[in-house]
Amino acid sequence: MYGVKEQLRAELDQIEADGLTKHERLITTPQSSHIATTAGEALNFCANNYLGLANHPDVVVAAREALDEWGFGMASVRFICGTQTQHRDLEKAIADFVGTEDSILFPSCFDANGAIFEVLLTAEDAVISDELNHASIIDGVRLSKAQRFRYKNRDLADLRAQLEATKEAGARRVLIVTDGAFSMDGYLAPLEEICDLAEEFGAMVMVDDSHATGFIGQGGRGSHEACGVMDRVDVMTGTLGKALGGGSGGYVAAHQEVVDLLKQRARPYLFSNAVAPSVVAGSMKALEIARDSDEPRRVLRRNAELFRELMTEAGFELLPGEHPIVPVMFPGEDGARKASQIADAMLGKGVYVIAFSYPVVPKGKARIRVQLSAAHSEDDVRACVDAFVAARDEVG
Ligand SMILES: *Cc1c(COP(=O)(O)O)cnc(C)c1O
Repeated sequence: MYGVKEQLRAELDQIEADGLTKHERLITTPQSSHIATTAGEALNFCANNYLGLANHPDVVVAAREALDEWGFGMASVRFICGTQTQHRDLEKAIADFVGTEDSILFPSCFDANGAIFEVLLTAEDAVISDELNHASIIDGVRLSKAQRFRYKNRDLADLRAQLEATKEAGARRVLIVTDGAFSMDGYLAPLEEICDLAEEFGAMVMVDDSHATGFIGQGGRGSHEACGVMDRVDVMTGTLGKALGGGSGGYVAAHQEVVDLLKQRARPYLFSNAVAPSVVAGSMKALEIARDSDEPRRVLRRNAELFRELMTEAGFELLPGEHPIVPVMFPGEDGARKASQIADAMLGKGVYVIAFSYPVVPKGKARIRVQLSAAHSEDDVRACVDAFVAARDEVG
C-alpha cells in the first residue's frame, strides 16, 4: 500500500479526535420495537420502521413462500433475465399507490436518485435542489451535466429567485427537487406552493418521499397526498427500505415516458442486479398492508401524538409537526454534549435513541431524533418519555 495505510489511519484518528466516529451496534434479534443488542435489551426508537412492517408476520410469510416459489436470487440485471412477473406487478402496484402512470424498481432509492437526473437532464437543463435534500439526490445531481441551483430549505422566496436565475441562464428543462419529508426535522416540503411556482415557470417537480410513503397523507400515499398535489408532481422517488417493509429496493414513479426512458438509460438499472425475489414478495405484501389498512397509520399517529404531548408536558423542547420523526432539541453551545450524554444515559435504561449534532445538523441545533413506529405500544411510548426525564435528571 506504499504508505497509504498510514495515511488512512491518520484520517481515522482525526475522525476519532473530532468525536465523529460512528460505531455500529450489533443487534441480535429481528428489527422491531423491542430488540436486543450485544449490550443488552432495548426499546428501539431509531428505526425507519414507521408502520411496524419490518418484521410483520404476513410480510415474513410472503417472503418465505417466495423463496420456494421464486427462488433465492436473480443473478441478472433486469433487462437481461432478471425480471419476474412479480417485479412488474410490484412496479404497477407502486405506481397505482403513489398515483403515477408507471414505476421502475432500483436496487435502492440511493440508486433511483443516482439514475434520474442524468437521464432527464442534459447540459442545456437545470436542476434546483433544496439545500437539505438527501445525500443521494446531491450525488445524483453531480452525476448529471445539468446546471445546478440550490434554494434554502423550504424557502419559497429563494426558490422563486432560483427559478428566475434558471430563466436568465436560458435553461431548457428545469427540475425542482425536494425531499417530501426532511429526515432531521420531520418537516414536510410545502408542495402546493412548490407546484404553483413550478407551473408559473414551466418547471417539473420531483419529490423523494422516502420518509413519507406508506404513512403520510390520509391514505398513506405520501407527502403529495398530504399537500393535495397528487396529480401535480412529475417524478416521485421512494424506498422499500423504510415504512414499506424495510427490506431493500427503491423506485422512480413517474409519467410513462420517464419510466420508459429510465429503462433504456438508467445506469443503476442497466448495470446492477435485480431486487431479490423474496424481497419483492415481502415488499408487495407490505405495500398491500399499507394500501388496504388504515390501522397501522392510526396507531402510528396516536403514538406520535402521545409522545409529543407527554414530552411537551415534561418540559422538553420539540420541533413542531405531526411526523413520527420527533426531534427533541438541545439548543446552545452545550447542546451537542448534553444530547449525546442523555442518549447514552437512556441506552443504559434500555431505550435506544440517537443524538445528532454538527455537522449533521446546524451548529447550536443539536437534537435527539426519536422515531415512532406502529409497532410501539402505548407503554413503550411512556417508557421512552420516562427514560428522557430520568436521563435529564441524571445528566443535569
Ligand atoms: C433513506 C433515504 C434514501 C435511501 O434509500 P435506500 O433505499 O436505503 O437507498 C433516499 N432518499 C431519502 C430522502 C431517504 O430518506
